[in-house]
Amino acid sequence: TQSPVNVTVTGAAGQIGYALLFRIASGALLGPDTPVKLRLLEIPQAVKAAEGTAMELDDCAFPLLQGIDIFDDAKAAFDGVNVALLVGARPRTKGMERADLLEANGGIFKPQGEAINAGAASDVKVLVVGNPANTNALIAQAHAPDVPAERFTAMTRLDHNRAIAQLAKKTGAATTDITNIAIWGNHSPTMFPDLYNAKVKGQNAFEAVGSDLDWYRDEYQPTVGKRGAAIIEARGASSAASAASAAIDHIRTWVDGTPEGDWTSMAIPSDGSYGVPEGIISSFPVTVKDQQYSIVQGLEIPAFAQEKLDATVAELVGERDAVKELGLI
Ligand code: NDP
Repeated sequence: TQSPVNVTVTGAAGQIGYALLFRIASGALLGPDTPVKLRLLEIPQAVKAAEGTAMELDDCAFPLLQGIDIFDDAKAAFDGVNVALLVGARPRTKGMERADLLEANGGIFKPQGEAINAGAASDVKVLVVGNPANTNALIAQAHAPDVPAERFTAMTRLDHNRAIAQLAKKTGAATTDITNIAIWGNHSPTMFPDLYNAKVKGQNAFEAVGSDLDWYRDEYQPTVGKRGAAIIEARGASSAASAASAAIDHIRTWVDGTPEGDWTSMAIPSDGSYGVPEGIISSFPVTVKDQQYSIVQGLEIPAFAQEKLDATVAELVGERDAVKELGLI
């Protein structure tokens, strides 16, 4: 049997953490043959709640779960980490300015980047879920100079999955009939779901929706982009199980690869492809093979898509400049 994989989850006592931990422990993250050890990081006030979740994990008697440790110190939590899921973040509260939000998150993601740099395993993979996810990932990456930059990623897989679900609804297709969906840019309402390069049962997705640009612009994109707000409105709480599920999908694809002929969406450090400034953490269509991802090259970007791509990238550049100004990167 394999030796266990160390999975560190931050914000473990939060609602995404609660939906995520049981799926990791059940084998959904790394497959049915890979034992896991969970390392939970929380702020001191939430350690007790994390202990409660750990009690429940114990009570599931998961065959693959070989241990749970709880920390309030990042250095300890990331020691030996193979998979780091950075879920805990400082949410924007009423009246909070963007600079305050970025600064508060700098105080979280800078020490976490340093701790990953100091103690992570050589194969570490990092996924940032906590918002503003792309820029939080950039902050952590900037403080981990000894870790290859490409190991730092942020989650747009939930947007990707939402884009598939909405397209399936519109076309009456099954989710499995939809391939080559991509999310470009920031994990924020500006993100751009690309139908021009997507397929429904092998047919071009934009053509499959009748080449209806009004629907694309006025319904599809806002529905996908504002889905989080719609869920808060309906549920009275933000999406948690679907976010956890997308985090599982992101890592699972990074480990197992993308199916032949298909791709996925990951926010990754840009190499300058498609004119996205090098270094910012932006979502691209990527293929994954042997645990390495590559940006899909040569895709068609019509004028409408280019305009949307420019807007979401401009937002990311603005966030990067703001954290630079604050001395966080
Ligand atoms: P959640 O578990 O609901 O959310 C955690 C983070 O995920 C938030 O930043 C949230 O962003 C983000 N997120 C990303 N995508 C989504 C999505 N689609 N839907 C919902 N959220 C999304 O937050 P809780 O407040 O329940 O829990 C956070 C926990 O983190 C707390 O227990 C807190 O103590 C802990 N924490 C831990 C830290 C640490 O380990 N060092 C540091 C800071 C906090 P958004 O706010 O925009 O919804």
